[in-house]
Amino acid sequence: MSGERTGVRVAVVGGGLAGLAAGFRLREELRAAGQAHELIIYEQAERCGGATRTERIDGFSLDRGPNGWLSSEPLTARLIGELGITDRLVRSDDSAARRFIYTRGKLYELPTSPGKFLLNGLLRPWEKVRVLGELATPRRKDDADESIYDFGCRRLGRGFAETMLDPMVSGIFAGDVRSLSLPATFPKMRSMELESGGLFKALIKKARAKKRAGGKEDDGGPAGPSGVLTTLQGGVGTLPDTLAGALAEHTQTARPVSGLTREGGGFDLWFDGAKERFDAVVLAPPADQAAAIVGDFAPEASAALAGIEFADVAVVCHAYTPDALTARINGFGHLIPRRDGIRALGCLWTSCIFPEQVPGGELLLRTILGGAHDPEVLKMSDEELLATVLESTAATLGIRRPPVQTWVFRHPHGIAQYNLGHRERVAALDRLCADVPGLAFVGASYRGVSLNRCVRDAYCIAPGVLRGFGIDVADIPDGAAEPSGS
Ligand SMILES: Cc1cc2nc3c(=O)[nH]c(=O)nc-3n(C[C@H](O)[C@H](O)[C@H](O)COP(=O)(O)OP(=O)(O)OC[C@H]3O[C@@H](n4cnc5c(N)ncnc54)[C@H](O)[C@@H]3O)c2cc1C
Repeated sequence: MSGERTGVRVAVVGGGLAGLAAGFRLREELRAAGQAHELIIYEQAERCGGATRTERIDGFSLDRGPNGWLSSEPLTARLIGELGITDRLVRSDDSAARRFIYTRGKLYELPTSPGKFLLNGLLRPWEKVRVLGELATPRRKDDADESIYDFGCRRLGRGFAETMLDPMVSGIFAGDVRSLSLPATFPKMRSMELESGGLFKALIKKARAKKRAGGKEDDGGPAGPSGVLTTLQGGVGTLPDTLAGALAEHTQTARPVSGLTREGGGFDLWFDGAKERFDAVVLAPPADQAAAIVGDFAPEASAALAGIEFADVAVVCHAYTPDALTARINGFGHLIPRRDGIRALGCLWTSCIFPEQVPGGELLLRTILGGAHDPEVLKMSDEELLATVLESTAATLGIRRPPVQTWVFRHPHGIAQYNLGHRERVAALDRLCADVPGLAFVGASYRGVSLNRCVRDAYCIAPGVLRGFGIDVADIPDGAAEPSGS
């Protein structure tokens, strides 16, 4: 331990959004309780933010990873309020409510009402009949894990699973619909089945309750999304940048933590041979890196962490002159089912969603490649990635001219995959944290990949950590953010 001990010592390992939000929350509560403390956030990179970062180049705001969050999570709104940047919030254009799927050589808008579903050509007539058969599908009562694909086939039919669930899963997890666990990724869907007997029955029940209450609020379909896609002026990176600014005196960058051990009542964090002693430690790196940190101290939890897989993802931003399209596009973007044989997972129509992110009315697109189906993607050169993107853009949007500017962002181990067995892996961590007061894990690897869920996680662990110092803060009730809701 270095220097004089000043009150309690708390470390957060990892300065991505989850670690920063946890550090901020803990500091605010420690200050409010008048508890002398030393808080240090250790980040291995030169700057904080992790995957949540915006490049501002030539008047473009280019989100490297996430591009926003849904306005439905009160804790994200609270964090933004506490940071004093509510006036910098930017709501997506209304057209972003329109989402598309490209399949069988055509773009189809996702239906948003039963009438539109019946008229829409996305599913074939017999597939629609099968979807409506969900009303008569019996509920499965046991608690066995089930893939999203199996759940979809069982309740809504194969056509729905392949045409709608598969691309939806690509859009959120860049994942494999046959490997991801439904209860871990979309617990709301599972509880709709358990509590109401089915998805449609739950929706009907909810619509009736809403009508009785006279409510109008948009709260999404069976799996969300609910709320409005939101960012900040300057892009989504403004959030971690503001947090990092607020926590500057507590942050040490270019400081990778290599291990954690426990001796007496405290924790030792290891850095290349040196160690620092703390009373509480919050681990916020992705699970594979957290596995290495706790390997000596908690082998069982380390094995559970190492069992959480990740998908590599590449994001290619490509900008065109405004007249590049023959027909105007207006919406959030399109996703592509894997069976359609196009390598790109989908494309966000960024300049439609957030028109202020381009300097002069350009058409800015963000194509996502890689994921669980395409583990080789990051072996491709920038030129190969771009060529693949242009091929996909020509097929899906009919754009045949070259972009005026392009940017490639790579995310090795970018998105955690909540594959079958994920709940048991997280349960192993929960057992460890219950046995070891003062230890917590936060971040996108565990209870939700979305920014909202990272913030919720960060707020939820704070009361437990603080109770170890005799500071009583009310627990945050389980609530808004879905694991997948982004
Ligand atoms: C391409 C892409 C698009 C996405 N789109 C969306 C979206 O639109 N909306 C949404 O809500 N979510 C989206 N997500 C998910 C979102 O990015 C994550 O929820 C979020 O970034 C996770 O934050 P985190 O803090 O858990 O992890 P990270 O951002 O990965 O941060 C972890 C931090 O820990 C640090 N670290 C690791 N090991 C150590 C160590 N040993 N010592 C010290 N520091 C360490 C890392 O350097 C990093 O800074 C997207 C993700 C990707 C990859």
